[in-house]
Parts: sequence; C-alpha cells; structure tokens
Amino acid sequence: TPDLERALQRLALDRGGPRDLAAIRDGLKAAAAIRADYAAARFGAPPALLLKALAELGQHDDVVSRLDRALGADLPLLARDGGFIAEGYLPELDQWRSLRDDSRKLILELEAGYKSDLGIASLKIKHNNVLGYFVEATAVQADKVKQDSRFIQRQSTANAIRFTTVELGELETKISQAADKAVALELRLFADLVGEVTARAEGIAKAANALALNDVAAGLTELAAAESWTRPKILADGVFRIQRGRHPVVEAALRRQAEGPFVANDCDLSHGQRLWLVTGPNMAGKSTFLRQNALIVILAQMGSFVPAEKAEIGVVDKLFSRVGAADDLARGRSTFMVEMVETAAILNQATERSLVILDEIGRGTATFDGLSIAWATLEHLHEVNKCRALFATHYHELTSLAARLPELRPHTMKVMEWQGSVRFLHEIAPGAADRSYGIHVAELAGLPAAVIQRAQEVLGTLEKGEQASALTKLADDLPLFSAVVTPAKGGGLGEPSAVERALAEINPDELTPKEALEVLYRLRQLV
Ligand code: ATP
Repeated sequence: TPDLERALQRLALDRGGPRDLAAIRDGLKAAAAIRADYAAARFGAPPALLLKALAELGQHDDVVSRLDRALGADLPLLARDGGFIAEGYLPELDQWRSLRDDSRKLILELEAGYKSDLGIASLKIKHNNVLGYFVEATAVQADKVKQDSRFIQRQSTANAIRFTTVELGELETKISQAADKAVALELRLFADLVGEVTARAEGIAKAANALALNDVAAGLTELAAAESWTRPKILADGVFRIQRGRHPVVEAALRRQAEGPFVANDCDLSHGQRLWLVTGPNMAGKSTFLRQNALIVILAQMGSFVPAEKAEIGVVDKLFSRVGAADDLARGRSTFMVEMVETAAILNQATERSLVILDEIGRGTATFDGLSIAWATLEHLHEVNKCRALFATHYHELTSLAARLPELRPHTMKVMEWQGSVRFLHEIAPGAADRSYGIHVAELAGLPAAVIQRAQEVLGTLEKGEQASALTKLADDLPLFSAVVTPAKGGGLGEPSAVERALAEINPDELTPKEALEVLYRLRQLV
C-alpha cells in the first residue's frame, strides 16, 4: 500500500505529480480490498479498536475507477512532461496526439519526395532547437538544391548548407501545435483529477488513517503470533509482575546473528519490592533487562500483546528512563549535566504509579560524588516518589541500603567463572554482584595486552590497600615504562620476541619435511 497521506498532502499543496495520483488510486484500492476481506469475515470479527477505523476506510470506488481509466501505464514524475493520460480516455487528446505523431510520418514522406525530386539519395530533413526542421545538403549537393526554387537557403555551416521550404514550415507548425495542444489538454485533465481528489481530502485522509491503524494492528498481531507474545493483564493497583519477559529487539538480533538463545527473565516490582537494585558485571545484560520491562509496559498500554509468558501490570501513569550517555553541547550541557537534568526530572515528577528505569547513574563524575548521588537518588525514589523502579549500577556499595529500605531488593545478573574466564548467563537472580569484571570485558574489546596487565596490577593494589598510600605507590611505579619493557605474549608492543624473529627467518617453500619438523622443535624450545 503506498503512502496515501503523503501523496494527498503533495497534491493538496500543488506539489504533486501523476505518480501521486497513482498512489491515491492504489492506496484506495488496497483500502477497498481490506474492507472486502473484513466484510467476508476472512479474519474473524475485527477487534473493537479497529471497528471504527474500518468504517472510515470509506467508499471511494468512483474516484478509483476514474483514476484507473485516466492514468496510463508509464507515469512521468512531473505533469508538465505529459504522456500520463491513458489512450482512449479523451477522444480530443487522442486526436492531437495522432496529429502530432502522423505529422512526423509526413516529414519522412516529404524527405523521400525531395530525395527523388532532386536525385540526392543522402538528402536529410533534420531538426534542431534553433532552426526547427530543415533540409540539409552538402556543399556539393547544394548547387542542385539551389536550382529548385522551392528551397530557400537558411544557413551555411562548414560542411553543409541548410534550406527550408514552405511545405516544411507548415508541417512544423502543425507538429508543434499538436504537441502543445496535447500537453495543455493533459495539464487540464491533471488539474481536474487533482481537484476531484482534493475535494475528497477528508475522506481519503480518514482512509489513510484507518489503513495505518490496520497496519499497526496487523503488525503487532503477526509479532504476537510469531513470537509467542502474551496478552497482558492491566490492573488498577500497583502490581508489576512479568514472567519470562524478553527484549524483542535484542532477541531478534541474537537470532539473526545466530548467537544463542535470548534468556528470558522475571521481574516483580509489586508491593513490598518496588525497587530492584540490579548489579552485575559489564555486558551481563542489565540494560537489556531494564529496557525490556519498560518496553513491555509501553506495548501493554498501547494495546499490544507483550514478549513474555505472563504479564500483570498496574496502570503506569508515566514511564521515565535514564539510560546511556549523551551530551547537548549546543545548549550548554555536558554529558554529566544532561544526566543530572534527566535525573532531576524523574525525582521531581515520578509518582506512586510511575515506572522508572535508571541505568548507571552518577558515572560521569568523581567516584565518591557519583556514589553519593546514586545513594541519595535511591533513597529519594524509595521514600518520596514511592514509584516502581529498576536501578542498575556498578556501585556495589549501594546494596548495603537494602538493610534499611524495606522495598529495596538487590538483584544480580549471574555469571560463571571458569578457568580464569567469565561466562555471562544473562539470568537475573536475587543477590548482589561482588565485582564488575570490567577488565575482562576490556580485554574482550581488544585493549592492548599491556594495558590489561597493568590494569590488573592497579586493581590488585587498590583492592588490597588503603587508597591514599596505594595511589602514591602506583604513581611511583612508572607504569608505562614497565609495561613496554615486558611486552605481552603475542601482543604487538615493543621488540619482536625470539620466536617471532625465528619465524620471520623461515621460508616454508624451501624446507624439506624433515627440516620443517626440526624447525618446529627449535621453535618449541624458544617459547
Ligand atoms: P554494561 O554494564 O557494560 O552497560 P549491561 O549489563 O548493561 O552492560 P547489556 O548492555 O544489557 O549489558 O547487554 C550486553 C549484551 O549481552 C547484549 O548486547 C546482548 O547481546 C547480550 N544479552 C543481554 N541480555 C541478554 C539475555 N537476556 N539473553 C541473551 N543475551 C543477552
């Protein structure tokens, strides 16, 4: 179905062309087909939400059939190019067109006549925008032509002499008149058709709207069926219970990349546990979990099924989300300022009926400042806003607030540590994370091995000691130099290792099988 609304707008603003008329025709045809399908109960009874809209699809058969008759098969972009009105639509137009085309045939006949009269087989009638139609002869042929009094010389060029004749002039006038008349007539017909369409603008706009609503409903229905979504229960109280909820977009992306299944997660922010404090390593799935619950609320309240096994949602009056880092430098706001402005809006506006998702607040400033702001924000949400909220953070210290804030429930994304590596299970469970595995994620992201090694040393020192003295000791260590002197295995920093040097010297094409084996033993010894 083409975009009816856009085509209608362009036509109404006098910016439309023949293709917009075709879009109106095809859109209204689709509307009629959909109306017929519903009338034949092909989809069962339409839901109440759609009934009114479907009535507004309206009856536009007369415009459709007129456009059908009027428009040709190949439509130009602009009306002034002409040629878009179908043959047979208006006899007068057909007459001008055939006159135009027949006259072209007459030119050819005239040319043939001149050729035989003058006995010059290569004589040509040509056309350009300055002279119009003319007879062109070479200098040698020109003498012959000049002897015939019908030919009047118009122009001499380096290689040719150009003539005209009275007959040719008359024919030319006829051709250009016929072509002009045809285009003028088409433009009038175009204006007529546009007038007919715009006179019904209101009805067509309603049909466009009804089609859009039908499209949204059909799209959501298809998703609900194909992705096993469930019908949410919307309640009047403050319940929030999602069983095996999923993030529809991340789930689809994982499937497309064949990266294993999406792990469904429960979320319960009902009375007694309104605030979930979500900790867990980087990349464990905290943001995904937060957003999927917000998305489920939006989908539920717009009347859609939701990606979960079961969902009970007490009506949410406002949904607040503070995620990601963005700045607004043009308006004088740094990243941290934007974060704080958004947090202020939440704390000032969230009510008991609201849902808030807060992802990593206080990250853009000094550690203690950030922790303090996150701490106070959490208390405010609990004591003053009393809203349902998901609060993701790397400040594991915040979990100690659970002892004092009865509605606060610490949750964590589970990980499995095995032989020094970490596997993210993407599964949420009660409890708190003890660490963030940030360095592990940095390594996965491809930070140079020397940096990772040094970061681990720094972390070790920081975790062990009292902060101030630990920092002085680290600064004295001249970390960069020691990192470069001991290049990591396989890392590209510093001098090549003995193994790399030995490898560079080998030319595999020149080795016998026995030598190759010896090289292998030698290399093994170098490691
Ligand atoms: P960070 O603390 O670094 O911001 P995070 O804990 O917020 O990380 P996400 O950004 O939510 O982590 O998720 C990281 C990636 O993990 C996602 O892009 C997705 O590929 C995968 N992932 C997240 N949740 C799930 C899930 N439930 N099932 C499967 N994969 C998931």
